[in-house]
Amino acid sequence: MSLIDRLKQSLDPLRGTPVATREEFAHWYRQAKLPQIRSGAFLTMLLYFVYTAIEQHVAQDHQQLRLLVHGLLVPAVLLAVGLMSYSEAWRQRMILLLCAAPISAVLANLAFNSGNSDFAYFLPEIYLNLMWTFTVSGLNLRQATLTASISTVALVVVSLGAELQDGLQWLHLGWILASLSFGFVCAFVLEKAHKIMFLHQRQLALSASLDGLTGLWNRTHIDQLFSDEIARAQRYDTRFSVILIDIDHFKQVNDSHGHAVGDSVLRQFAKLLSNSVRVVDQVGRLGGEEFLVILPEADQQQALAVAKTLQRLVRECEFKTVRHKTASFGVTEFCVDDSAQSMLDRADRALYLAKANGRDRIEVL
Ligand code: GH3
Ligand code: MG
Ligand code: MG
Repeated sequence: MSLIDRLKQSLDPLRGTPVATREEFAHWYRQAKLPQIRSGAFLTMLLYFVYTAIEQHVAQDHQQLRLLVHGLLVPAVLLAVGLMSYSEAWRQRMILLLCAAPISAVLANLAFNSGNSDFAYFLPEIYLNLMWTFTVSGLNLRQATLTASISTVALVVVSLGAELQDGLQWLHLGWILASLSFGFVCAFVLEKAHKIMFLHQRQLALSASLDGLTGLWNRTHIDQLFSDEIARAQRYDTRFSVILIDIDHFKQVNDSHGHAVGDSVLRQFAKLLSNSVRVVDQVGRLGGEEFLVILPEADQQQALAVAKTLQRLVRECEFKTVRHKTASFGVTEFCVDDSAQSMLDRADRALYLAKANGRDRIEVL
């Protein structure tokens, strides 16, 4: 990886990952941000009540309007944001409102104060507002940057033409720049940390679902996939089948060549299975030398065809040290009222038949 690529990667840990992963992160991050959005909105609402109370004593102009905007309108918007955060259906509108809230607070501040000689005393609200947008609001980096940029444009355009003492203009610009850059850096670092955390969590979840020896799904995860498929078939009235596979006379491999060779046969066998099924099919190791393949949307005939292909591939495969091995197959299709257990039991009976009838066979029940 070139230095530039490494730099880009360090700026964005999700760089180079599939679109689906980035979408998954966006969803996860939105969920993770909800408590922050909620508490930020409610606390800021309270702060605006305090601000309004103090403001009534120190500001002469637009008293009624200040009361209306700072004591009623902004708190109402923040209350709405906080309440909307509880409902999935209102999320999009909540974000729009959350972007609109700081911009309208900046515009109100400019409208009330920019023409007055005491404008400078009211500027801290705006600096805090920029920092708030980045670090407290709960907006993601892109939304916060867009919101703060709109506020800043309005701020720069209005306040440069406003009544500020000589020299104060520069101080004012300095504070805007400081608020923006501190805010941006904080939000950037936080979002990057979340991306790293998300990738770690995903990796952990994945490794908890994998079988250590073969890299196939482990028993727990394949059971979960099986239950999900049963629920889907029952709900949408779709078909699906499973194939239960057991390597024949596997004990002999261990007895004759040792456990390490047995492990390598299991790995090779697993690779053969996962390379030979469709992308939508799921392959797991139930334990020992027993495997389960879940075939969504496949009826009994299609599953039988898959089992025949797998049987042929196993027969033709040259396994390290032991050279040739065979396997037995139990095939079954989902029936109405099946549970994962009843379907697995049926596949197990089919497999037992295949063993009893001489091995290297496929039986369908
Ligand atoms: P059958 O044709 O009836 O299936 O006979 P089999 O010998 O394959 O079946 P059996 O159940 O008698 O033996 C399975 C063997 O698989 C026993 C066990 O030592 C071995 N085994 C289970 N898990 C592992 C593993 O992770 N690695 C290795 N190397 N062997 C394992
Ligand atoms: Mg066996
Ligand atoms: Mg077995």
